[in-house]
Amino acid sequence: MRILFCTSEASPFAKTGGLADVAGSLPEALHKLGCDVRIFMPLYRCVREKLASLEPLGQGATITIGPHDYHVHLWQSRTASGIPVYFLEKDEFFDRSNLYGSPVRGDYEDNAERFIAFSLSVRHVCEAAGWFPSIFHLHDWQTGLVAPYFQMNWRYDPRFARSGTVFTIHNIAYQGIFPAGFFPLINLPPRVWSFQGIEFWGQCNLLKAGIVYSDFLTTVSPRYAEEITTSDFGFGLEGVLTERKKSLRGILNGIDTDIWDPRTDSYLPENYGPDELAGKNACKRALCQLAGFEKTTRRFPLLGMIGRLAAQKGFDLLEQILPELMELPVNLVILGTGDASIEESIRSMERHFPDRLKLTDRYDEKMAHLIEAGSDIFLMPSRYEPCGLNQMYSLRYGTIPVVHATGGLDNSVSDVLLHPGSGTGFKFYQYEPEAFLEKIKSALALFENSPKWEQIQKRAMAQDFSWSMSAKNYLAVYDKVAGQRRP
Ligand code: ADP
Repeated sequence: MRILFCTSEASPFAKTGGLADVAGSLPEALHKLGCDVRIFMPLYRCVREKLASLEPLGQGATITIGPHDYHVHLWQSRTASGIPVYFLEKDEFFDRSNLYGSPVRGDYEDNAERFIAFSLSVRHVCEAAGWFPSIFHLHDWQTGLVAPYFQMNWRYDPRFARSGTVFTIHNIAYQGIFPAGFFPLINLPPRVWSFQGIEFWGQCNLLKAGIVYSDFLTTVSPRYAEEITTSDFGFGLEGVLTERKKSLRGILNGIDTDIWDPRTDSYLPENYGPDELAGKNACKRALCQLAGFEKTTRRFPLLGMIGRLAAQKGFDLLEQILPELMELPVNLVILGTGDASIEESIRSMERHFPDRLKLTDRYDEKMAHLIEAGSDIFLMPSRYEPCGLNQMYSLRYGTIPVVHATGGLDNSVSDVLLHPGSGTGFKFYQYEPEAFLEKIKSALALFENSPKWEQIQKRAMAQDFSWSMSAKNYLAVYDKVAGQRRP
């Protein structure tokens, strides 16, 4: 099975979110299953800074965006384990400080041109490498156009005759919507401009292009696959997805179990595992000291939270419960960057409780590891969560999650109160502040009972969230698509 990952970001080269984690880890897991996987992504400035050696791939190619021709160059390198990675060089589009836009000025104005260029170049990278995949695995709106380009043009080329497309939606809230005036830049036949094509309320929707024209669709958890076919979660695309329901499957993301392992994690002051939890307390002490908390004893509960300060992540619920939460005997440490108004509202509470509430507003990987290890309870009240990674890290670190029962949170956490013999965390079902607070209180009550708490911790730590299971599920999808393409 030959698979080309077409992605706008992949760890460790360029990352803004969970997509990079998937595009970094899933190819490795597929490679271990014997697949010939390769990755194609833009050559951003951050990639160039990280990669010492890049080799040219072919002579370059000419692509046409609207009436304009652009000459692009292709480069190649390999991941540490030897997976080929191809890069699109077009400095005019990708030699910038950020991937998609600036924090102050927002999305880059030419994002449509940038990712039309990337999508068109997919064909050229195959030709330059002399390698024609069985599957183009596309990710999110940035690669949505590859699907109609393939469907309407490339598949008539005998070298692509047996190829197929799989499109993964990592977060349906981000759709790549551009004014109608951008349509001529895409150079697809006029019939594509219809509600059965990429037209969406009078605009171009590149995520919709991926949904409509790919052979098969996946998203990053089974629950999210159901949710996005409803008006509460579909962001306007629920109808289109419902039509494609038979070709839509949710596959839970895995986590990188080498990086996220409390037994070997080099960011921690002491390591620990399910059979020897003592080191977890050293992590808690270190985290409390770092946060400047007054009460740092083992029995004084420490709550942790990590995530983008965005409405999606449930900070509105947190804001509403904070006054009452702070009346309880708890410390709370939060790590996150993003929305200034969310930050200010947490800051104002922080001023009231400086020795029990701490917000760190920067991207800090070491601190993220320390929070996962040092907290007793992890809060993840996301309004919606396609998959979510932090709850899985928490489980692996014996830090019991309190989550909203949505998307991947619902699939990866089993409720202790509903399933006393197998539960691994606490889930609230109504997206309401009272429901969230009640579950935190339930968790705190159980925390008082050390033997029972330790039992849940051990159960949580024994969960298998490695990529190997997800990779097998993806392989089954690829097989199905490739099977349909065989004559
Ligand atoms: P999303 O992709 O919606 O942001 P995920 O939970 O799927 O959320 O993945 C977020 C990733 O980014 C996780 O690995 C998380 O630990 C990390 N992360 C988010 N904010 C920070 C931060 N401020 N510092 C360090 N890591 C962070």
